[in-house]
Amino acid sequence: MTTTQNQTAQDQAAQDQAAQDQASSKSGQMHSINPATGETFASYDTLTPPQVEERLSRAQAAFDTYRLTTFAERSAWMNRAADILEARKQQLGELATREMGKTLSAAVAEVQKCAVGCRYYAQNAEKFLADEQVTTEAQQAYVTYQPLGVVLSVMPWNFPYWQVFRFIGPALMAGNVGLLKHASNVPGCALAIESVMQEAGFPVDVFQTLLVGSKGVEAILNDDRVKAVSLTGSEGAGRSVAGTAGAAIKPAVMELGGSDPFIVMPSADLESSIKTAVTARTINNGQSCIAAKRFIVHADIYDAFVDGFVAGLAALKLGDPMQASTDIGPLATPAIREEVHGLVQDAVQKGAKVLLGGQIPDGVGNYYSATALSDLTPEMQVYGEEVFGPVALIFRVADIDEAVQLANATRFGLASSVWTSDAGERARFVRDIEAGSVFVNAMVASDPRLPFGGVKASGFGRELSRHGLHEFVNVKTVSIGAAPDAHKSKTE
Ligand code: NAP
Repeated sequence: MTTTQNQTAQDQAAQDQAAQDQASSKSGQMHSINPATGETFASYDTLTPPQVEERLSRAQAAFDTYRLTTFAERSAWMNRAADILEARKQQLGELATREMGKTLSAAVAEVQKCAVGCRYYAQNAEKFLADEQVTTEAQQAYVTYQPLGVVLSVMPWNFPYWQVFRFIGPALMAGNVGLLKHASNVPGCALAIESVMQEAGFPVDVFQTLLVGSKGVEAILNDDRVKAVSLTGSEGAGRSVAGTAGAAIKPAVMELGGSDPFIVMPSADLESSIKTAVTARTINNGQSCIAAKRFIVHADIYDAFVDGFVAGLAALKLGDPMQASTDIGPLATPAIREEVHGLVQDAVQKGAKVLLGGQIPDGVGNYYSATALSDLTPEMQVYGEEVFGPVALIFRVADIDEAVQLANATRFGLASSVWTSDAGERARFVRDIEAGSVFVNAMVASDPRLPFGGVKASGFGRELSRHGLHEFVNVKTVSIGAAPDAHKSKTE
């Protein structure tokens, strides 16, 4: 494909997306479209501006009383949500697979993880938000954590349940009320989450799904009743929503894209690193923010690693995501596949070597073959962009200096995975890699017990752990009286 053809593919993808957006907004509907078949299997009316207004007043009314509930009450509701998720994981999993194409086994595991996340916050929120006594000259001083109010979450389709529940757990346990604007291609999942929360017994309107397109976000976030926003999504969405939040002086958490490095040094366990690399690149059909995307391999083990890695990718089965034997299902939308293929073609046209794949398979569905590219240079778009599909970029480096330099050579800084058994190398990676996390001899994964988030264009703020719980609270200082010998000459 020539540059012109590549540009044409990208233009076509943009046109497809624009046509889809236009169709959705014209009809006032959102559609569930199966990425494996192209079939539209459900349509939902989007909210009109007066309906959004009504939902906002209901959210504010809910907050006025919900903020006064006890941790014990919130925990009971959150644990019940976990029970419902667990009981319904097969059904919810099937819905996600049909809406966005991840394998059914992955979708069911995702729902199970949501239950774990709910239970984690049900169990720990009170402890994490306990008042903290501080010794000053006052008779008593302490810090107390109070909810902010109505918090908007803007969420992506790639983990349609987990991304939302990792917002719900901390936000609601802290006493906030949640509004969800989910991605437009997963309206069924968005409504299913609202149902789970209602059935769990949370007071009415403490969590509401708003079926609105991305154009509706600015007005909602600018509404005085909305006090903060949590966005998980692309860099572009982050710039827009963080801009609105900044102008309105509202707190924001931004969980954005990544182009994570996976570094393999000669001292690593090669077999284990190869096996993990295959999973780390193709998890969620290659559409994960923390998927390893750039494989940076020391020259001494480069050939052995690449042989094993490419063979591992080649052995994966591409196909119907409902089948247990499938490893990689379709990409979520035709536009995403066009974008991925456009990036691959741009690299090939500029001299990249295709070690595997690089093809759009024949037939229906947004499938894309597992792909491995080497001989990559900075002129290629893939070098600096996030590739949201099963495409591995492989680099050969001479030493650890070059590995670190290359790892940091993107504007992203979400996570990283480094493979070494050398203590000095490990310390160097931990110190020098510009990312929100470093996983040593392991695949990057989120865990409710550990903070999650990025630096640079991968965003700011943290989700999960006690850090995620402290993002949307008012850290209120309470100082009572002055001690008899307190300093009189206080300044502000
Ligand atoms: P996306 O296109 O940015 O959409 C994410 C959400 O933002 C959707 O609800 C979308 O609504 C909305 N949105 C998009 N543009 C917007 C704008 N200008 N103003 C307000 N809202 C806007 O991302 P995606 O394709 O769903 O998800 C993939 C991206 O998310 C990747 O970049 C991935 O790395 C990132 N991600 C990051 C993390 C993390 O934790 N760091 C986790 C998962 C995914 P519509 O659907 O209606 O457009």
